Order: sequence, then structure tokens, then C-alpha cells
Amino acid sequence: MSTITVHRLNKKFVHHAETGERNIIAVHDVSLKVTEGEVLAVVGPSGCGKSTLLRLIGGLIIPDSGEVLYDNVLLNEIPLMDRGIGMVFQDGALVPHWEARRSVGFFLWLRKREYEVPERVARIGKITGIGLNDLLDRMPRQLSGGERQRVAVARALARDPRVFLFDEPFSNIDAKLRGSARVELRRLLNEFPVTSVYVTHDQHEAIALANRIAVMNEGQIIQIGTFEQLYTSPRSQFVAEFIGTPPINILEGRVQGHAWYGRTFGGFEVRHDLEDGAAVNLGVRAQDVILDPEGENAVVRTITPMYAEHHQLLELEGSRESWRMHVPEDLEVRRGDILKCAIKPENLLFFDGKTGQRIG
Ligand code: ATP
Repeated sequence: MSTITVHRLNKKFVHHAETGERNIIAVHDVSLKVTEGEVLAVVGPSGCGKSTLLRLIGGLIIPDSGEVLYDNVLLNEIPLMDRGIGMVFQDGALVPHWEARRSVGFFLWLRKREYEVPERVARIGKITGIGLNDLLDRMPRQLSGGERQRVAVARALARDPRVFLFDEPFSNIDAKLRGSARVELRRLLNEFPVTSVYVTHDQHEAIALANRIAVMNEGQIIQIGTFEQLYTSPRSQFVAEFIGTPPINILEGRVQGHAWYGRTFGGFEVRHDLEDGAAVNLGVRAQDVILDPEGENAVVRTITPMYAEHHQLLELEGSRESWRMHVPEDLEVRRGDILKCAIKPENLLFFDGKTGQRIG
């Protein structure tokens, strides 16, 4: 197992179009550290540079500048054979140079550590329910998508990698299987800890698997932390909107006399150094919008029962803006009903209306 250190990594691609060349900055000045045995998830919208970052960490592409180190040794100074990278992509394919030495390399290694290996393979087989034959030599075309992914993960683990890199490994399998594959992978990583970077656009997957989550946008890491840190203390509106389901309500407003006033709600105290008239957005989660007889009128547009969480999620339309809220599961409510809503003054997040940076 290794630590992974990424220091000021940059990578751009040149796109050739009829109108001329255009530089795409895929990864911009990214630094991070993954400690031994830790699983770091990288989340972010499509095209934000997640896969490029992962490929740079895996040494599959060369950065324009910056460094990747395993255990404080520069990746390009570690011979290919000693890198010990297990990489699982969407389609279950392993990195090319891995496949090439699959049979020879793996069986040599088996022989070298013959006492340890059968037991390890057996334990992996037990957790995954995948037989030894599948683990070692079933051809991908003989397996379904879900099976292929599980075999790819198990096979990579059987080789005792120093580092595990995942690029949306379960995105092509159906939702039910994805859930169980996720649980299985978590159990495997508990049993055989491997320093891992896990790229996904699915925050539920990130929460289930990772110790920490890195949120990326436009090639940059915006914030790294536990899910709880990102959820309760987002550094920007982008992180607040990306983390948490349903998405946080963002209400536009302005500062007046040390308080925030929006189109519908207002009177919440803000930082005293903010000037009157400053544009500030309020972030308020659905559970912090409440029913209040003195509140503001809004029409119920959609109702989504959330059985597991014992509440209903409503989308409401006020006279000037819309928002989401939770109500108890036993509240009788129909589309078109008019409810009176207020905002709990706790847990409010304020963001600069221009930069999106958190300001309270
Ligand atoms: P997704 O979630 O859709 O897979 P991503 O966050 O993984 O996206 P990347 O695949 O890293 O994003 O792509 C980042 C940017 O770099 C995109 O604009 C993409 O078009 C561009 N890009 C990625 N690989 C190449 C390449 N080999 N050549 C040119 N441009 C590329």
C-alpha cells in the first residue's frame, strides 16, 4: 500500500476545430494527498477533468507540469512492473500493460507467495461469491457486465496492488446490481485495504465507498473533505449545490441593515461587514423549510414520497420563486394545495451573489 501525492498537476488538451485550435484545460493546478489505505472519491460534473486526473495519477498520460508520487517517489521513476496499479474502468477493462502480463505475471507472483495467495484468493472469493476460476481466468466475453466488473475488481485485488484506481466502474450496470456491487467493494476494501482513488458522478457511491470526497469543477479541486464537512460547511455555492439530495434551495437576495432579504423570505442576520445592497444568495436545505401558519403562500407542484426517510418531498411555487421542502409522510397534501412556508433560521448558508464563495 502506498500514499499518493499529487503536486500542482496541470494538463491541457488541444482541440482542433474549423475555427482554429482551442486549448481545453482538463486539470488545473491540482494538489492532493491520499493516505495509506484511504479511499478518495472524486466527484464533479461531466467534463470537469475527473478521468484525466485519474489517468495522470495512474501514469497513463503525462502531465504538462506537476508531479505524482507514490510513497514520495516520483511515479515516472518507478519501473512499470513495480507500480502495482490496479485500475478498473467502466467496461471492466484493466490497463493495457496489465492485460499483457496477466497470465505470466500473475502466476509468477502466485508461485512466489504460494502460502499466502490461495488464502487471499479464497477470502476474496468468499466475500464476492466469485469462484476461483472466474477470478483467475474467465474471459470477459463470457461474463455479463456486472459479473465482469466484479471479476475485474476481485482479480485486481488478488494481485495485492499498491494503489487502486477506479473510473466509474459500476456506471454501466443496473441500479440494483450497482447497489450490491458497491457494498461488496466496501467490504473488500475493509478486508484488504488499498489506497484508492474512485471517480464517480454519483455522490451516493462516493458516500458509500470513500473516506473523503474531492469535488472538482472545470479542472480544479474546489474542496476536499468528508461528506459531512462538504454538506455542512461547503466552501462555495457550487459544492453546496453538488452535495446533498435533493439539491439545496438557492434563493437570491440582498443585504439590508445586516440582514438578508430575498424575493419571498427575509430578515436573516448576515455578516456585519457586508454592505447594504450586496447581492447574496441564501442556501437552505429542504428539511429547513417548514410549515408555519404565519408563513408565505406557495402552491404544491409535485409530491415525491420518500418512504425510507419517512417524509414527502414537495416542490412549491411561490409568487416570486420556487423551492423544495420536506413534510411529514402522514401529511395529507395534494398537487395544487396552498401551503404556508417559513425558513428555519439555523443551518443557513450565505454565498456571494457574484463569486459564489461562502460568506456565512
Ligand atoms: P465524464 O464525467 O463525462 O467522464 P470527466 O470529468 O471525467 O468527464 P475528462 O474525461 O477528464 O472529464 O475530460 C476533461 C476535459 O478534457 C473535457 O473537456 C474533455 O473533452 C477533454 N479531454 C479529455 N481527454 C481528452 C483527449 N484525449 N483529447 C482531447 N481532449 C480530451
